[in-house]
Amino acid sequence: MKIKETSQLKQHFDQHKILVMKVLLIFTFIGGLVFFLINFPLGFYTLATIELMASLISLILWIYLRRDVSAQLFNRIAYSYVFMLCCIMLIVFSPLYTSITVFSFALLIPLLTHLLMGSRNGMIFTTVFLSITLTFFIYKHHDLPILNRPSDIANIATVVLLIWGLAFSYERSNEKAKDKLIYLASHDFMTGLYNRALLNDIFQSKLNRSYNNKMPLSMLVADLDHFKKINDMYGHYAGDEIIKKFADILQYHSGSEGTCFRVGGEEFCIVFSKTDINCCCRIAEKIRLATQNITLGNNSDFMPVTTSIGVVSCRKKICDMSALLKKADRKLYQAKQQGRNQVVS
Ligand code: GH3
Ligand code: MG
Ligand code: MG
Repeated sequence: MKIKETSQLKQHFDQHKILVMKVLLIFTFIGGLVFFLINFPLGFYTLATIELMASLISLILWIYLRRDVSAQLFNRIAYSYVFMLCCIMLIVFSPLYTSITVFSFALLIPLLTHLLMGSRNGMIFTTVFLSITLTFFIYKHHDLPILNRPSDIANIATVVLLIWGLAFSYERSNEKAKDKLIYLASHDFMTGLYNRALLNDIFQSKLNRSYNNKMPLSMLVADLDHFKKINDMYGHYAGDEIIKKFADILQYHSGSEGTCFRVGGEEFCIVFSKTDINCCCRIAEKIRLATQNITLGNNSDFMPVTTSIGVVSCRKKICDMSALLKKADRKLYQAKQQGRNQVVS
């Protein structure tokens, strides 16, 4: 399952972007004011007004960002900011104004877009922006001598492409490292299943999916029986092997709607979207039967492994994951009390 953009974990790893954005907003606030004060007395009233507005918008966004914002809202702010900045630059680059040095501001765009929008959208945005900028530059300054000197063109092109390439490769490797960190933080090393970190996020997204399809969400909690005894008899290493085999059984039976989690030592949970309690009980029963067939090497007198399973379901729009998990735990406890190796719903 792909980790959602809104996941708290991802948001945690994107905190640095908020800092970058705040610094940029302060710069734009001050820069906008300075350019307003320069351009207004020179009679560039339209440009000065745009700069003053950009400065004020930056101030408002900065005040807004001081609160706790969701990842979605942050993305909206970042995209609006980059879009506003690009529009102002393109107005200044357009044939309406004559300055040639303003084109140096275009070098900021590859950096900003990649840092704030990610490698893919940054690449698209930069390509469009630099293409328009190049068109304006050639249209306005086609008679410049440097355009006839290959070495000058090569100098400019090298700097632009280098900044662009560095921004892209930095952001790309950052994204890969972040994905890896998110994977390590959200998965159990031994079994490869999810740990508890994303349980609530995935639960809520499955709940939405189930509710939108007018079907219930179901959850099962499974705990291996007398596992301390198994560890004592065959050793901790053998115990680990059994846990891995049990995780494989859960994964195999979870199907396309179920996501498996290792929630404790030998305690697991599967959350099913669009699955009613009867269907979940049938899956739980298959898991229970498959667990009895777990073997360890060719140890013929190996004591059979069994599991007790609690099953619960919810068809409401809003449902507290912890409360449902507690309810499933109570069913599991009941299964243990009634003699283990059974499913209770
Ligand atoms: P019950 O039937 O009541 O569940 O009895 P139990 O012995 O399984 O009791 P409980 O679930 O409380 O015990 C869990 C045991 O699982 C304790 C611990 O030694 C063992 N365990 C937890 N994590 C691991 C692990 O990663 N590897 C191994 N080998 N054992 C583990
Ligand atoms: Mg146990
Ligand atoms: Mg246990």
